[in-house]
Amino acid sequence: METAQSSVVGTKPGAVLGRAPLPRVVPKLSGVQQRIQAARLMQAKPSLGAAYAQALARWEADPVLRLLGLPVITECYRSVGRQDELYAQGRTKPGKIVTYKRGGESKHNWLPCSALDVAFLLPNGETSWSGLLLSKFARLIKAADARVHWGGDWPGFKDWPHFEV
Ligand SMILES: [Zn+2]
Repeated sequence: METAQSSVVGTKPGAVLGRAPLPRVVPKLSGVQQRIQAARLMQAKPSLGAAYAQALARWEADPVLRLLGLPVITECYRSVGRQDELYAQGRTKPGKIVTYKRGGESKHNWLPCSALDVAFLLPNGETSWSGLLLSKFARLIKAADARVHWGGDWPGFKDWPHFEV
């Protein structure tokens, strides 16, 4: 696991009494991490990739959101074999169920890819799948392109990190 490079920015301390000041460290990707992100984005269908890029740019330009965490694509294309492994989780293997799609049935299994999964790099270097952060990102990506659907909006099984066209 790589250590995230962080930089301290010169924001003013929180002025509101009784409220913790926002963290002043903006999470940043290393060069290797940036190349991985670019490669994953290249796997996406142009419409999905463009919507993601626009939402990411808006997130990074927002003075509050950028301090909460940095959106990252954890996975775009996924092989049929890996999809089958994920399907086994919570069924024939330990863990909780993360997918209802077998190998070949998921939008992740095709190139160019119609789906991508998102998480957040936190200022402390950890990765988060916070539903709150994902819902904020979902609002931005759906505003960028109304054809993008968020797994957190699905009835029944919620796939919070998942976005697709
Ligand atoms: Zn997904």
